[in-house]
Amino acid sequence: MSCYDLPGLLPLDQALTRMLSQLTPVEGEETLAITRAVGRVTAQAVCAQVNLPVFDNSAMDGYGLRHQDAVNGKPLPVQGRVLAGETLDEALKPGHCVRIMTGAPMPEGCDTVVMQENARVTDQGITFDPLPEPGANVRLHGTDLKAGDVVLPAGHRLRPIDVALLTSIGLADVTVRRRLKVSVFASGDELQSAGTTLAPGQIYDSNRPGLHALLDKLGVEVLDLGVIPDNPDALRQAFRTANESCDLVISSGGVSVGEADFTRDILDEEGDIEFWKLAIKPGKPLAFGRLSQAWFVGLPGNPVSSLVTFHLIAVPALRCLMGMPHQPLAQLNAITREPLHKTPGRMDFQRGYWDLQDGTVQVRCTGSGQGSHQLSSLTEANCYIALEQDRGPVTPGETVTLWLFDDVMA
Ligand code: AMP
Ligand code: MG
Repeated sequence: MSCYDLPGLLPLDQALTRMLSQLTPVEGEETLAITRAVGRVTAQAVCAQVNLPVFDNSAMDGYGLRHQDAVNGKPLPVQGRVLAGETLDEALKPGHCVRIMTGAPMPEGCDTVVMQENARVTDQGITFDPLPEPGANVRLHGTDLKAGDVVLPAGHRLRPIDVALLTSIGLADVTVRRRLKVSVFASGDELQSAGTTLAPGQIYDSNRPGLHALLDKLGVEVLDLGVIPDNPDALRQAFRTANESCDLVISSGGVSVGEADFTRDILDEEGDIEFWKLAIKPGKPLAFGRLSQAWFVGLPGNPVSSLVTFHLIAVPALRCLMGMPHQPLAQLNAITREPLHKTPGRMDFQRGYWDLQDGTVQVRCTGSGQGSHQLSSLTEANCYIALEQDRGPVTPGETVTLWLFDDVMA
């Protein structure tokens, strides 16, 4: 039976559980140069093949010595010099020290490095004051990573810092999952592209460019089908085209109960709707399900609803298809500085800005209002003020739970 007919609204956590239990990562992987793999998702765990540091080396510019030789304070003559990239062939002689620079291998017999600021050159050799603890300023072999250690798990989205990590252990390439193909379109007879002149009753299509930019940021391949009119045949054709070539179809608009809202009907005809009404605000009408080949997420048309539900529902779906584990947004308790309008029934995701005031996390509402058309509420925010389904109005000073924006919204 299709959920389409079920009365009532589905809470967000149940919707996510149902959605994620059905989705599996797309198949297919490729091996890429690490420097070209930022944003891609590891297909397998990456293990270190070497110990890091590769050899014991100095953490300071200074003098290497055998600690016990220096405790009596007698000057130690300099036996030789070793710079980064060199090696000292002979072992340290008793009662001597070596000039050593940061990154240079510790000569055999040296166990401690004294920074040069604490060394004094005399005619008889070098004296040290203060003498550090034995083993000071030495970076021991294998103390960062050991050969065989898992450096990155499977399902990890590579960041620029991971490029440094992987190349530090000598890897030149990495195996990642194939890029996800996602189709996006907006539906609505009133929608025009930015840069054109609006006729009466028209508005600019902001959802599709916004969603396209979010998808670019997630590193997926985007098939942008443009603006589709409120016409069942055109919508059907758009879903069929997307279904043939993509893993996931994201549409905006037409999913509610208005007279020009055909998206849900077409999805019901062309595929299976798993759910389409959520107990959240903004974003009550939202359809998730599958076509013959691709999954779909039909987002609501109101600009805030569209982007917020993309974040809360479509991003977890995308991450799962990309092979990443589910990662709920980080939560934090805060004191609200303002009254918050809320009626029991749905879970609210009001947009807010949190900061630390006198050591306490506080939050205020953003934008000129919390209407689902008021995009400034989202663009000025750094968190959602997540108000529980059963909660009523909130007064200043009450504790609320924040869901912090992640790098998708940043
Ligand atoms: P709908 O979900 O199609 O009923 O649309 C709800 C509201 O969102 C209406 O005011 C639409 O004009 C507006 N809307 C729909 N799609 C877009 C879009 N792509 N960009 C901006 N606003 C939109
Ligand atoms: Mg519409």
